[in-house]
Amino acid sequence: MGDGWWRVRSWPLWQLPAPAVAYVLTVEAAAVAAALAVMSAARVTKADLLAFGVLAACAVVHLQASRRIERVRRVTTGGPQVDLTSIWLVAAVCCLPPLLVLGMVVLTRGQRWLAFDRAAHRNWFSAASITLAACAASGVLLVLGHRPPPLTDVPGSLTELAVLAAASIVYWVSQVVLIGGAIGLTTSRPRLVDLVGDLELNAIDVATVCLGVLVSIALTHAPLVILFGVPVAVVLHRAILVRQFENDARQDAKTGLANTVHWRQAARKELAVAGRREEGVGLLIIDLDHFKNLNDRYGHLAGDDVLRAVADALRAEVPDFDFVARFGGEEFSILVPGVHSQTSLLHTGDRIRRTVERLSVPVTGDEGDTAVVRVTASVGAALFPDHGHNLDDLLRIADTALYAAKRGGRNRTCLAAGQLGARPA
Ligand code: GH3
Ligand code: MG
Ligand code: MG
Repeated sequence: MGDGWWRVRSWPLWQLPAPAVAYVLTVEAAAVAAALAVMSAARVTKADLLAFGVLAACAVVHLQASRRIERVRRVTTGGPQVDLTSIWLVAAVCCLPPLLVLGMVVLTRGQRWLAFDRAAHRNWFSAASITLAACAASGVLLVLGHRPPPLTDVPGSLTELAVLAAASIVYWVSQVVLIGGAIGLTTSRPRLVDLVGDLELNAIDVATVCLGVLVSIALTHAPLVILFGVPVAVVLHRAILVRQFENDARQDAKTGLANTVHWRQAARKELAVAGRREEGVGLLIIDLDHFKNLNDRYGHLAGDDVLRAVADALRAEVPDFDFVARFGGEEFSILVPGVHSQTSLLHTGDRIRRTVERLSVPVTGDEGDTAVVRVTASVGAALFPDHGHNLDDLLRIADTALYAAKRGGRNRTCLAAGQLGARPA
């Protein structure tokens, strides 16, 4: 929880934007209300306690065995994360009375809380969102007339399975929405994928929830069978870490665009394919104009906001992840497959230049002053196979064209043989 947590005024929570603070407090208040309602309606049998004990033991072993994996995973990426404790929580939702589901939330969150030093408000928020999602799913089971089955009574009918599926979906969607809301209110210009995660992450989430349902069915049939679920959970945990490393190895951390290494690999492959098909491929290098002045005036953090805004605009122009990269500093590189002529490439480059020119980015300077800044970019273009047959030659030509654009007055697009863009003032 951290030292000095009782000094309410110094909580990092208050540094969030006001709507985010209101959102976090509302979610937490709703979670407390839901937890109180659940506690007052509690009726727990011995069999429930036995099932809870087995589930709790599995959750503890899983969480302890994956501590090291989780530590590495937490330092690598932000944004929505897979939460494998859902396996045990969903299983609890499906076969335990809500009071014991709450017990499982406390057990799993408490362990993570003790194991990792995180801002307290983030711990409270994730506990609150899980509590709400679990209560919502338990509520669905209650409304649909599902009773936690006694041990050895296996849910077999299609209706029962459909009811369990409905509760799992409600658990998953509630989590996605609650966490997406918090990310949306604390991130500037988030994309859908920043809010809810990519397809792969959601597929893993769904698989985790499915495992939870399987565990609940095993639990009602033969409780000790779920011990087999523990190694599955730990190995899945490790597999997710590998996926995260793969993503991080491809991405530029600041902008989320491809990094240079990944872009070069993709570009070489694309050139080889284009060579076989006798097709043209365009290559653009984009360098922001007088970017140092912007940093000097507003500070590097504001400069970073502008870099991210430009990256988002480029991504909107070139949705294929592999083809647009942060090439370094305030330079970006773009691969444009299927280009038929130098004129067509020049027009594509200039369209992208104009996209950057149209951007208005709100920034906060180092002194706390706010402003809306605009940037321009110079673009150098080269065409395969006209200007070169390999990536390095093409990059050299595009770089020379870029310098011609800078020398020509900036905010323009240059190819070895021509230019488009703003006329010098
Ligand atoms: P021009 O390209 O028009 O000639 O001028 P410039 O000022 O953009 O050129 P230069 O290449 O000399 O400076 C690039 C600047 O980009 C220097 C550096 O402060 C800034 N820069 C590089 N990487 C980053 C970054 O990650 N964040 C921020 N905020 N600034 C960066
Ligand atoms: Mg530069
Ligand atoms: Mg520059």
